[in-house]
Amino acid sequence: MKFIDPHIHVTSRTTDDYEAMAAAGVAAIIEPAFWLGQPRTNVGSFQDYFSSLVGFEKFRAAQFGIRHYCTIGLNSKEANNEALAEQVMELMPLFLAKENVVAVGEIGFDDMTAAEEKYLRIQLEMAKEVNLPILIHTPHRNKKQGTYRSMDIIEEHEIPPHMVVIDHNNEETCEEVLRRGYWTAFTIYPKTKMGNERMVEIVKKYGAERIIVDSSADWGVSDPLAVPKTGNLMLERGIPKEHVELTCYKNALAAYGQSGQFEESDWLSPDPIDQRSLFEGNSVLRGGQTPRVDEPEDDRIIQ
Ligand SMILES: [Zn+2]
Repeated sequence: MKFIDPHIHVTSRTTDDYEAMAAAGVAAIIEPAFWLGQPRTNVGSFQDYFSSLVGFEKFRAAQFGIRHYCTIGLNSKEANNEALAEQVMELMPLFLAKENVVAVGEIGFDDMTAAEEKYLRIQLEMAKEVNLPILIHTPHRNKKQGTYRSMDIIEEHEIPPHMVVIDHNNEETCEEVLRRGYWTAFTIYPKTKMGNERMVEIVKKYGAERIIVDSSADWGVSDPLAVPKTGNLMLERGIPKEHVELTCYKNALAAYGQSGQFEESDWLSPDPIDQRSLFEGNSVLRGGQTPRVDEPEDDRIIQ
């Protein structure tokens, strides 16, 4: 079975993770722009980060057979530095126009401050202007209140729910998010919060329509294999294969496919892996390592 992980911060993961993800069937991933664990101090840091999301990280993923896409946005925590946030708003349109950018995100609330709301609204308008889907990060504290408030604001901006993925849901929020017509995403955190056992129960209860599973794996304790593991657990627990395909592949494809930048054909017939490839003079290999060089499909000798 093939999987999409539509929320993973692979910049902070290792090549071992990429190899394990490809072996587990992860064919395509989306890396949302977010914060770095500490606040940035100048706009150049955002510019270089956004550039790496559309540039080097896409190249790096391809060296391991995974198609990489990203979302561009100012995260909620850093929206609280208004002087910097203004400069990021000026920078964003340039990056939203790049190939492989499939949404504006992840944006939304952290502490639910006035500044967070201001830059959420500005970025919602930006997404409307360029007709891109939106990825909403919901707060980890005051989850229910923050999630409902985010949806209210989106509705004030007259953005249709089918253009919006609301992420980091739990049992407390998902019913209302589904009821209002949004793509309803769940981040599977190992050991805490939303574990994959709980995800199985949610799909049993609500079915698979508009439900999306992701890992949000980053530099913290997280699991880059959360999507394939959850998919396999669903199958073990008797959830129909079609529901697993919807929640772990097809719904993400439909939601982000609305960007016009996220097409299955991109990863179903990929270029053969050639780790001799260079990105601005650099490869993913270090001295003495043997590059993986796959033969093009047509020339492969079947024995
Ligand atoms: Zn994230």
